[in-house]
Amino acid sequence: MTEQTIVDFRALGLAEPLLKAIEESGYTTPTPIQAQAIPLALQHMDLMAGAQTGTGKTAAFSLPILHTLLPLASTSTSPAKHPIRALVLAPTRELAIQVYDNIKTYAKHTALRSTVVYGGVDIKTQMPILKTGVEILVATPGRLLDHVEQKTLSLNQVQFLVLDEADRMLDMGFMPDLKRILALLPKQRQNLMFSATFSDEIKKLADAFLNNPTLIEVARSNATNDNVEQKAFLVNTDQKQRFLVQLLKQYPNQQVIVFTKTKLSASKLARALERDQVPCSAIHGDKSQKERIEALDAFKAGTIHALVATDVAARGLDITDLPLVVNYEISTAPEDYVHRIGRTGRAGAKGIAISLIDEDETKYFDEIEKLIKKQIPKEKANVSSSTTPARSRPSKASSGKDAWFEQPYQPAAATAAPKAVTAKSAANVKRKVVAALLGGFGFKATPQNRTQAKRTTGRSKQKSDLPAHQPAENAAETANIES
Ligand code: AMP
Repeated sequence: MTEQTIVDFRALGLAEPLLKAIEESGYTTPTPIQAQAIPLALQHMDLMAGAQTGTGKTAAFSLPILHTLLPLASTSTSPAKHPIRALVLAPTRELAIQVYDNIKTYAKHTALRSTVVYGGVDIKTQMPILKTGVEILVATPGRLLDHVEQKTLSLNQVQFLVLDEADRMLDMGFMPDLKRILALLPKQRQNLMFSATFSDEIKKLADAFLNNPTLIEVARSNATNDNVEQKAFLVNTDQKQRFLVQLLKQYPNQQVIVFTKTKLSASKLARALERDQVPCSAIHGDKSQKERIEALDAFKAGTIHALVATDVAARGLDITDLPLVVNYEISTAPEDYVHRIGRTGRAGAKGIAISLIDEDETKYFDEIEKLIKKQIPKEKANVSSSTTPARSRPSKASSGKDAWFEQPYQPAAATAAPKAVTAKSAANVKRKVVAALLGGFGFKATPQNRTQAKRTTGRSKQKSDLPAHQPAENAAETANIES
């Protein structure tokens, strides 16, 4: 069956309760990855799928799993009737929550149960639902292993394993965790691996964990979405901020994600933008999960117009109609560019991705162009002198310096993070709101720095009473800012 012959979901042979949910979601036509992956997955084949963010990959793996599990669905209240049959691993809690939300939607007319577990929240809150039994478990690797250690779940009946955003999992240093998890699963199972980029390491991972996988790709690996207009401005480091303000003014009332490399620079930028009449909220890994989710919800709802984000925080964000992405700092890892600009131009919509390149970053941008096999048009930034640079405004501190940034970094457990904008002030001003959503994807974990990160995060963990096995998704974030 080719993707051209599939014009609707019914032709894929999916069960009625799933078709009903799909229809209620407003989907009329399978996306290319769905058209290719669903028939193969229904034939119990292992898949290695290359699909960019926003291609509909979550439904591509969820629907065939739900379809296959449907005959096993039970309305019994006995936990024994609801063993974990499908395990979906995702690198970040944001992505895990999003995947779970999708699965819940697709399964809503079935008796199949699902839940999600991720780090950064009290493990005890996740136990009751696991006790009642779920067929589909979405998890971040670290937290899953915490549950295994606490014996709150069993993986010995898993029939499906999904590795979502596998490239990110490797970037975050999850390989040892993945190996431990894989060793706990039955050998006889179907494996579905999704990755936006295909590095040699990803191919090695596929060789190790998949059984003779079929390779499917909906776009050239490491390709960027044709719907996204990409441009770049050459701009001096000290003029970037001013130029960004200029740019944001060109897109009034439109949602934008501004990417920085580290938590610290995201936080700095958000604070500086606030001083430039752009109120900001700094949200980072040391803040509670609830606060991070609230920021994402506010962004999705349109209350917050701009998000200053590091790669980890923005990873897996499912935001429809995001028209603009700004690469404020160019990542040293060229694949990050593909992920970043994948935030816009989703599901066939048009998007714009603008990169601001300073003299030190041209070499990283060259690498990006090599990776995507495309030259991005560049022009010299015309920085208007009428826009007051944020940093030159008198700050609240009388010295004109932002004292907070002169301090060495300390995790929030030890010191309260600066409160750039409160919900109240955001509500008060009808101006563009920026949230800095912070994480650490630019961080490339090595066994050494990951151990260090775990140790560091372990400190804040004591406070939140989380187990010693710290989820690596948090650990990576902490390491980022300290590097
Ligand atoms: P994903 O790549 O799984 O993150 O999906 C990106 C977005 O596309 C999500 O908002 C999905 O709800 C949406 N989506 C998935 N499949 C379809 C489809 N067949 N038609 C329209 N939208 C879809």
